Amino acid sequence: VLYNQVQDLKGSIRVYCRIRPFLPGQSNEQSTVDYIGENGTIMIVNPLKQSKDKRRVFTFNKVFRTNVTQEQIYGDTQPLIRSVLDGYNACIFAYGQTGSGKTYTMSGPDLTTEETWGVNYRALRDLFQISKARLDIIRYEVAVQMIEIYNEQVRDLLVSDGSSRRLDIRNKSQLNGLNVPDASLVPVTCTQDVLELMKIGQKNRTVGATALNERSSRSHSVLTIHVLGKELATGSILRGCLHLVDLAGSERVDKSEAVGERLKEAQHINRSLSALGDVISALAQKSTHVPYRNSKLTQVLQDSLGGHAKTMMFVHINPEVNALGETISTLKFAERVA
Ligand code: ADP
Ligand code: MG
Repeated sequence: VLYNQVQDLKGSIRVYCRIRPFLPGQSNEQSTVDYIGENGTIMIVNPLKQSKDKRRVFTFNKVFRTNVTQEQIYGDTQPLIRSVLDGYNACIFAYGQTGSGKTYTMSGPDLTTEETWGVNYRALRDLFQISKARLDIIRYEVAVQMIEIYNEQVRDLLVSDGSSRRLDIRNKSQLNGLNVPDASLVPVTCTQDVLELMKIGQKNRTVGATALNERSSRSHSVLTIHVLGKELATGSILRGCLHLVDLAGSERVDKSEAVGERLKEAQHINRSLSALGDVISALAQKSTHVPYRNSKLTQVLQDSLGGHAKTMMFVHINPEVNALGETISTLKFAERVA
């Protein structure tokens, strides 16, 4: 309760910037990150230009240096998990161009070592831990959905046969609080259960990928953890849900080069990411009209953006000079929603 009160004072959206380290073999590269300040500021510059007068400064809740650990990245997330178990909704997003580290942050590079686990697994580990600690007061049931939004179509990622049936979105479904009621809803009791499901989801996500274009960079994946709590003393029920969203790559495609399917994908991605930006910034400005209807992504997340819901966004940048344009547009997007 205290957490929610404190957060309401500060606004319910928190934006964190993570800078991907240079990859092995890039040791001689120069970085576009000129300076990282103490108060969440980051300064971007073109290191190859003699005159450094074109520095740009952006400000967020925090900026993480390249040597940050997965544990540190997760650090501020735990209060959000508590609020989900208290019956609130929350969203965690990874935003950035393809190759900037979104999947590294959300899933991690390697599931076999806990140390490199991403936000998804840490969140679930905490969720089960906290719910166990409350066992004498509240009994929780946890269930998971995992969907993909590709070309403005919603697909279930937890079907074993990989069938790509299009699913409908029904906002505020009276049935059971699910916005995508026809997507598989799988009960889970431990982190291991979720790990297994995510493997299935990842596998289904890559079905249909061609060698040239990896599909996962062009679709949004949404892992939703639904929590149902029964208070033992009063019998009252609470519901909360957490959406963990690995967004499609935010890069703009060159309109002169992209044709056909590739152009259509790019247009869908651009449109849905701007729709997300519009919704979050409308909420931040306490605007009376919040344009949820403009994309499938914002429709799916409608009940979890705004109101008492909490939002965290990790924006990722690639420090390479040739990514400068995308880095600036990523940071502009992030500053608009912050
Ligand atoms: P995205 O999901 O945004 O396309 P990835 O998460 O797949 O990007 O990252 C691209 C590459 O960079 C991968 O090889 C990944 O292991 C590596 N990488 C990303 N972030 C980090 C990091 N913080 N530390 C080390 N390697 C990283
Ligand atoms: Mg990825």
